[in-house]
Amino acid sequence: MLGLMQSQPLLISSLIEFAERHHGDGEIVSRRVEGDIHRYTYRDLAARSRQLANALDKQGLAFSDRVATLAWNGYRHMEMYFGVSGSGRVLHTINPRLHPEQIAWIINHAEDQVLCFDMSFLPLVQAVHAKCPTVKKWVALCDAEKLPADTGVPGLASYEAWIAPQSAEYAWPQFDENTASSMCYTSGTTGNPKAALYSHRSTTLHAYAAALPDVMCLSARDAVLPVVPMFHVNAWGIPYSAALTGCKVVFPGPAMDGKSIYELIEAEKVTYAAGVPTVWQMMLGHMKPAGLKFSTLKRTVIGGSACPPAMITAFQDDFGVEVLHAWGMTEMSPLGTLCTLKNKQLDLSKDEQMKIRQKQGRAIFGVDMKIVDGNGDELPWDGKSYGDLLVRGPWILDTYYKGESPLIQDAQGRGWFPTGDVATIDSNGFMQITDRSKDVIKSGGEWISSIDIENIAMAHPAVAMAACIGMPHPKWDERPIVAVTLKPGAEVTREELLQFFEGKTAKWQIPDDVVFVEAIPLGATGKMLKTRLREQLKDYRLPGL
Ligand code: ADP
Repeated sequence: MLGLMQSQPLLISSLIEFAERHHGDGEIVSRRVEGDIHRYTYRDLAARSRQLANALDKQGLAFSDRVATLAWNGYRHMEMYFGVSGSGRVLHTINPRLHPEQIAWIINHAEDQVLCFDMSFLPLVQAVHAKCPTVKKWVALCDAEKLPADTGVPGLASYEAWIAPQSAEYAWPQFDENTASSMCYTSGTTGNPKAALYSHRSTTLHAYAAALPDVMCLSARDAVLPVVPMFHVNAWGIPYSAALTGCKVVFPGPAMDGKSIYELIEAEKVTYAAGVPTVWQMMLGHMKPAGLKFSTLKRTVIGGSACPPAMITAFQDDFGVEVLHAWGMTEMSPLGTLCTLKNKQLDLSKDEQMKIRQKQGRAIFGVDMKIVDGNGDELPWDGKSYGDLLVRGPWILDTYYKGESPLIQDAQGRGWFPTGDVATIDSNGFMQITDRSKDVIKSGGEWISSIDIENIAMAHPAVAMAACIGMPHPKWDERPIVAVTLKPGAEVTREELLQFFEGKTAKWQIPDDVVFVEAIPLGATGKMLKTRLREQLKDYRLPGL
């Protein structure tokens, strides 16, 4: 017997329809590439998304055709989230920090038909357009008068001139909720990038889940600043959850430095922000010396790479801001776990709570997870056994776009996605990433977590950033070394830093050496790029070898 409830597909267009009807005057504030601050409402966003949908129809785009963006976080980009997917096309957000060759490869692989870009990326478009034969329309996300006369990009139009003649009337089409809605290529630190192809159903379910109190806890009372880029897994789904809750949205545009972000948080009374640790490192680096405080910021979700405990403490103790440590992946839309305490943990001491807060957190309903050993057998949730982390759920990838399914079948025939992360899970269900499987250091048959070593190094007051990698060793296979950058004006010697590890980790896990570097190489999403660091240190030899 089937239930007798209404059957309505979960579509992205319903999010924007809801926001317009119930939060029509909710504010969307953007710092633009032009440098000024732009303000409008969900009502304006909805109307312009419909104009864009009409423009795509006029352009002759078919259902499921791909429309790409090379853009910062801003209102026009958000219009594309709804106008492109809502009208049945697929939004392809490209990471502009990738190498131009890789960008051209991605555009061709996705067979993008239209590409909309912020003017900051005009040189990039000039470099790649001739290699992208599938793109039949190039659009600059700006006013007509901001478009230079001779760009060399054939038929380049301004976004404003393109959508201005279009009607704001548009009936969003109804279709199967499993239809593709957007796509995102993984950073591709190894091999060619691979794309996750999200659906309306996976995106809408993820938007519901992300808003839950134990997840991102978004509400109509919040003003949310996604520092995490809209080209990095849909800004962790915030634009969709924002429309679902009607919260105020504040977009930083291209100004991602600590000072600009801080000033925007204060000026727009932001209550909630989201970003990778390196961004917050820059902001705290700006605030601390100047003695600045937050007047409205309450919570910040930090993920994408391990959040150093020193950062959690700084936010909490110095600024009164709660850090929500989150873990996820492009292949997971991206949210998998989030770290919030359970009721029974509220009476624990601050130190005990801190130990929990460092973990990547508990699974969100919709994500099932387990850790397995080399034979694929499930390991106990004892907080000590570590193994490969596998996940499954309705917003987790089944098959790569034009690619293969990486899933591993269990005895019941259910498919699990191998995350490539090594983790422990404790008896309360809190997962902790030990490392990426390719980054763990194998020393004398034992594993050393590079994240643990980095966390200790970053707790030293002189250290700005630390990256731990394994170096070949004839006896132990590999030994850890830690590359560090220092805070401006700070000093510490190699010996002092190695001394600092004493008592904080087992003796055999203490790095063999400290290498002082000017900068730790960062990848396209602001994460430490250990592959590049290894290349830079290829001539390095461990002391005594
Ligand atoms: P890419 O894999 O291309 O770098 P993703 O953004 O999908 O792009 O990265 C997902 C990976 O980032 C995870 O598999 C994990 O290794 C790492 N990661 C994400 N969040 C955290 C976190 N909170 N702590 C530690 N590692 C994290």
